[in-house]
Amino acid sequence: MPVQVAQVDVKSLVDGLNFAEKVDRSLNLIREAYEEFGDRLVVANSLGKDSCVVWDLAKRVSANIRGFIITTRYKPQETKQFMRETVERYPELRVFSSEVEIADRLYETEPDRCCDLLKVEPTRQAIAEMNVGCWVTGLRCTEGRTRTDFQEIEERDPGLIKLNPILIWYEREIWQYLALYQVPVNPLYALGYRSLGCAPCTHISSDPDERAGRWIGTSKCGGECGIHTRPLQADYQI
Ligand code: SF4
Repeated sequence: MPVQVAQVDVKSLVDGLNFAEKVDRSLNLIREAYEEFGDRLVVANSLGKDSCVVWDLAKRVSANIRGFIITTRYKPQETKQFMRETVERYPELRVFSSEVEIADRLYETEPDRCCDLLKVEPTRQAIAEMNVGCWVTGLRCTEGRTRTDFQEIEERDPGLIKLNPILIWYEREIWQYLALYQVPVNPLYALGYRSLGCAPCTHISSDPDERAGRWIGTSKCGGECGIHTRPLQADYQI
């Protein structure tokens, strides 16, 4: 059956399914999409804990599934090293970044613009260059206030399916999966970080909101970089 955008009662699934059922559901979502899109199904791997789960699930579906990583000049050293190790292990992961000139400390003055140039634009490039028909993300609806309204299968950009196969997982279940399947993660988690991004915009926070440590002190606090909220067509004018 073709992969179809559908409105699902996501909240009832979050508490209605147990861990093993969620793993099965996620695998099925990726499998069905891969059967339809083949090589045009591509995983967006942010190298965060959620992406590590999605990437591992995708590899269980097919070793051939490709992915892309968006990196920036501001990523922490630990993340850069983890990226090198990950790409060495999975050469089917392509790395995209932008070397565009930007104002010094743009992340303080205009973080939305900074994210648009350094994260969203390379995502558009990745989707175009890799001829993506379905991109797979590690979005979870329990992550914070900005992530409650997503669906498992979406079409935010015309002709581009977005698959969020672990949308209904709790943070606890992410760590459960990573431990049970012994999936390596970024060492920054051991220091207390719960959500990882660029160094100047990522802090350790004890706030219950998982993303509360992102963009502290700016209008973007606890928010989004834009790859899940901005148009992704390659010819979009930023
Ligand atoms: S997370 Fe911060 S440094 Fe990274 S692109 Fe966004 S604003 Fe710029």
